[in-house]
Parts: sequence; C-alpha cells; structure tokens
Amino acid sequence: MKRRDIIEFEVGKMEFGGTSVSMLGNREIHMKGGLTGQKVKASVKKTRSGKADVKMLELLENSPMETVTPCKHFNACGGCSMLSVPYEKQLEIKEKQVMDLFLNQDIFGFQFQGIEGSPQERLYRNKMEYTFGDEVKDGPLTLGMHKKGRHIDIVTVDGCFLVDQDFIKVLTSTVEYFNEKDLPYYRGMSHKGYLRHLVVRKGVNTKELMVNIVTSSQVDFDMTEYKEMLLSLDTDAEMASILHTINDGLADAVQCDELRVLHGRDYINEELLGLKFTISPFSFFQTNTKGAEKLYTMAREFVGDHSDKVVFDLYSGTGTIGQVMAGAASKVYGIELIEEAVVAANNNAKLNGLTNCEFVAGDVGKTVKNFKVKPDLIIVDPPRPGVHKDAIRDIAGFGAKEIVYISCNPKTLVLDLVEFKNYGYEVEKVKCMDMFPNTPHVETVVKLKKI
Ligand code: SAH
Repeated sequence: MKRRDIIEFEVGKMEFGGTSVSMLGNREIHMKGGLTGQKVKASVKKTRSGKADVKMLELLENSPMETVTPCKHFNACGGCSMLSVPYEKQLEIKEKQVMDLFLNQDIFGFQFQGIEGSPQERLYRNKMEYTFGDEVKDGPLTLGMHKKGRHIDIVTVDGCFLVDQDFIKVLTSTVEYFNEKDLPYYRGMSHKGYLRHLVVRKGVNTKELMVNIVTSSQVDFDMTEYKEMLLSLDTDAEMASILHTINDGLADAVQCDELRVLHGRDYINEELLGLKFTISPFSFFQTNTKGAEKLYTMAREFVGDHSDKVVFDLYSGTGTIGQVMAGAASKVYGIELIEEAVVAANNNAKLNGLTNCEFVAGDVGKTVKNFKVKPDLIIVDPPRPGVHKDAIRDIAGFGAKEIVYISCNPKTLVLDLVEFKNYGYEVEKVKCMDMFPNTPHVETVVKLKKI
C-alpha cells in the first residue's frame, strides 16, 4: 500500500471524536468519519509501518446499524455524523468510547455509572452560528453550515434536526432577505465582503430569542428593514434581542468590534433548575438547555452533601454550576477568563438572591493560586484542551478532599486524571451525559478523592 492508492474496506471500530480504525489485511487503517459496518472507498494519504491514514471518498454501503432516516442535509453538512444510528445505539457507542479512553491510560478501579441520554434527541440546541456564503461558485447566497470537508461551500440547513422552528424561520427569512438585497458575503481568503455570520440563541425555558447579525464594516447598510422583518416573523419565542455586530477581524470566528442593539436588550434570559441567568451575545452557555439541567443535577449528585462547604467553581462561564451549588454551600468562588461572562455571573448571583458567590476574571492556570481561602471541594469544567498542567499542580496544592471534574473532551480528561493521580487524587466514580445527540461529542463527570 502506498500514497494515493485507492482502497475499499469495511469500517471497524469508531473512536471518540468521530474517527475510525479498521483492519485491511494486517494493516490498521485510520480515517476521519466512518460508522462501524459501513463499506467505504478511500484514498491513502500516508503510510507508516503497519498503519495507514486515509481519506474517505465514497460510501459504498451503509452500516447495518443505520436504520434511522436522517435529515436532508446528512452527509452534505458535517454536523451530525451519527444521525442515522438509533439513539440507544449512539449512547452505547459513546459509553464504550469513553471507557476505552480510561482503560488506555490504565485508569481502573472506579465505579462506572454508565451514560445518561439527553432529554431531547432532536431540536435540543439553544444556539446556532451560521455562516454566509454560497454552495456553488457564484451561486445564490446561502446561510448555514460548512459543507463536510470543505472550507468555503456553505449549505443552507433549513431542514436541520438539531434546532426548533424558530431557528429555521430566522435562518430562511434572513437568507431570503439578503438574497434580494444583493449584498456580498465576506470571503475569508480576500477579506472582502459584508455578510459574515448569523448567531441565533434561545432561552428555551423563558422563550426568548436573540438574533445577532454579524457583518464587516465594508458596506454601510441600514438594518432597520431587516429588524422589522424579523419582528414580523411568527416565532414561538419572543424576539427579545436583535443585534448587529461589526466584525473586521481576519479569523473565521465571531468577534466584536462594535455591537449595535437594533431591538430590545443586548442579552436574553434563561432559567435552569429554578435559577435565572442572563446570556450575553458572546459568553459561553451550555448549548442543550434541558441537557444542562440534567448535567448540573448529576454534578450536584457527584458533589454530594456540600452544606457549609467552601466550593471553587473553576472555568465558571456565566456561573451556572457555582450557583447550583450555592444554595447549600457556605461560599462559592469562581474563576473565568472572559470578563463579560464574569460580570454576567456576578449579576446572575445577585438576581438569584445569592450573596455567597464571588466570580473573578482570570486564567485559572495563572490566578487560582492567588486564592487565600482553603476550599473543601473544587469543581473544574474546562474547555476542550483540558486543565493546564500548572493549574493541575495549583489546584491539587489546595489539598481539597474532593474534586469534581466535568469534561467536554474525554481525551484530555483522561490525561489530566493521570496528572491528578501524580498529586494524590484517585478516580472514585464516573458518569457520562450525552449533551450532543447525533454528534460524536459527550460530557463526562468524574469524582476524584484525595488518597
Ligand atoms: N462552567 C460553565 C462554563 C464551562 S465552558 C458552564 O457550565 O456553563 C469552559 C469555560 O472556560 C468557558 O466559559 C471559557 O471562557 C473558560 N476558559 C477557557 N480557558 C480558561 C482559562 N484558562 N481560565 C479560565 N477560564 C477559561
């Protein structure tokens, strides 16, 4: 086997993160994508002794486990690689993938409590970030997700199963509106153009919508008519916030040079487990509201009795986890990198009548050691890269009896757990929570005990 060879094989094991490993003769084939049992055609990108990295070219035969009819964008949009697999099977696959990651790091001897499913398998997302572009060169304007494996082509995902009709209405009416206006979309290569992204967020339990249209400053376009159009839509939720963000940044990410409020407020409200939270346009909030309630309940169970304890909520975002614990705890301290989220977290605590919470801005790796108090319990909920090594050292340095680690990436989680073990923390129990049905992602909650 050599580079550029075209091969056909049956997909073997699915690994966490959406990759697969298959055997062809005695060679291990590594590929992005693939469901166990699919027959595929692929081109060889690289070979090493006994291994090959390949790129899928064509699906020749479905897997026997693909028994669900997916949405019309399946395989064009890269979003939901497992949508064709029944939900119970998806859960089984994810649970096994997480267990395998633990075993690969020789982490044994803990209580594994399995996986819990999302309360909704579909229509569960409370946030979508759509990109403007076209599907074919110089074709009509499209707005949606990047085509699978492509950087430039955009599919208008008006049949997406992950969001409810409010999202679809805003998406389709926006793309229709701007198609008529003949405004250029922003091109990532030349940095020329106007329309960049559309971010839609929904307070699911409060029925409030936020629509944020993101453009460059290259055209001076009056958004009044667009706003009126949005207000005339027959949405289930109320249009609580319509925003126009000016972003001249070069990266393909939503950042803000100027925020214009076109209608309502610059935030929406959400409620979780009886607590109120304001969500500002750029701060993190769990993308599956009903799932988040289940995840935080699970975290609370893992924490156990925390009455009169001092709790650290590290990587606190808008302070959700800390506030869920604050009812019983004596004091909650949180650290979060994004200033805007910290302001929201402190306001939220006030709004909820919690006087024992204090959220501060900072990088956990650099600032956690500045806390002069001694915590009884530390909760960490880091982003995908996990907890920085210096932060693990400093967190362990407090000598708290218990640590609860909530992770959105089991690959970095297990590496961090090995590091925590070096500082005397052992895994007591583990449970997975599927916050992202139909995608390869999963949340994992771990309780660590000081030996
Ligand atoms: N616990 C929150 C947020 C978890 S997401 C919730 O459940 O909603 C992870 C958060 O970590 C994000 O808000 C991100 O802004 C923040 N973050 C990322 N790197 C960080 C760092 N080095 N120090 C502190 N916070 C960080």
